[in-house]
Amino acid sequence: MATAPFHLMWNMTRRCNFQCRYCYFPHETAPVEPVVPAATLLNFLDATGEEWVVGMTGGEPFLYPDFVELCHALSRRHRISIDTNLSISRLVRDFARQLDPARVHDLYIALHIEERRRKGLVEAFVEDILLLRERGFHLTVNYVVHPQLVAAFRQDREWFEARGVPITPRPFKGFFEGQEYPNAYNAEARAVFAEFPRAGRKMAFNFQGVPCRGGRTLLRLEPDGQLYRCSGEKRDLGNILTDPRRLEWDEPCRARRCPCLGPNYVLLSPAQEALLAGLQAMVTGNSTRAREHFLLALEGDPLLPAAANNLGVLDWETGDREAAAIRFAQALELDPRADLFVGNLAAALAMRGERARALELVQGQMDPAWQTILTPLARQLVTDEAITTWPRLCVDFVPEHRREAMGIPFRLPARQGAEMA
Ligand code: SF4
Ligand code: SF4
Repeated sequence: MATAPFHLMWNMTRRCNFQCRYCYFPHETAPVEPVVPAATLLNFLDATGEEWVVGMTGGEPFLYPDFVELCHALSRRHRISIDTNLSISRLVRDFARQLDPARVHDLYIALHIEERRRKGLVEAFVEDILLLRERGFHLTVNYVVHPQLVAAFRQDREWFEARGVPITPRPFKGFFEGQEYPNAYNAEARAVFAEFPRAGRKMAFNFQGVPCRGGRTLLRLEPDGQLYRCSGEKRDLGNILTDPRRLEWDEPCRARRCPCLGPNYVLLSPAQEALLAGLQAMVTGNSTRAREHFLLALEGDPLLPAAANNLGVLDWETGDREAAAIRFAQALELDPRADLFVGNLAAALAMRGERARALELVQGQMDPAWQTILTPLARQLVTDEAITTWPRLCVDFVPEHRREAMGIPFRLPARQGAEMA
């Protein structure tokens, strides 16, 4: 989108003083060794002639040596944004008193309640938030709603609100018990997000094949100075210490999963915009709006299978299994190579007692060389187990067969493990 700022996401360190159970980072306690001098980073940014938002993330950015001084230096010509667990009170208070809130784009503060309680840091957290707010910083306090924390969220939210700290649910992005979140949230979890439509923006989408400004107005910087197009697409753009560069043109995204700021940087067609709005409404529990958007998406591009599929998921949720099966079949017809549509249609067939037909459909699609999302479904169909993890939403903005025609490979090995930043 044209209004999105120039944004450099700086992953300053992989070290962190917390050990959240859903985090995939190695939990090392050794001091952080700075590799990228502030002057080098500033030279690179200044040479573009643009004002950048330097988004500092990690690990935990406040562990970086002389962090408050670094914030001063960066925020003179550019603005900063920090993704932090806000746990080192001494530095947080220095930051709050010394930095100009006008030069700080935002603070994205993660509560991580289990770990904070374990460390006895809840009271200090509340005090620090109140101080930052009083000083005029724009901040969001987020709560990662891990599938096992859905019930706890409501209680914790009340507790913090009573102390003047509103909290926002943040979708868990990653795998848990074989399912990919946030797409796999059930109705109870989606109800948690219903009051927070912005939370849906934190979903991970598949923009593979969609032109994106990533690499031009959005960049990712690693702790060792390596520059990438973005967090999702690790396209090598040199090292900031020696040979940094940016892409010259908006190019199609080649990553299967956009875990970052992609929705602000991709160039979507009106139908794809509607698909995006539908998915965001869906994750935030607004099924009526989601349906409106998916219908608009399909009207704008009758060949967009994700919209047809997601209408099927909505039909399924209202109990209309026949309508759902028709939509899944429509999606599969539009993109016969997509495993997800095969799985959804097979699940619908199995639910109405046609297990043999469902199994035939799944086995016809499966390549024995690959573990796909269909592998567990085939097992469930063979053993007559209950099918509980289908149907699934589709977050693909370009159908697989079109991506293949663009020379973008698909059918990568399934990803496993939790993912959190
Ligand atoms: S989720 Fe964030 S705060 Fe928690 S351990 Fe990982 S990096 Fe640290
Ligand atoms: S869509 Fe996301 S993953 Fe793809 S290039 Fe853009 S920012 Fe990167």
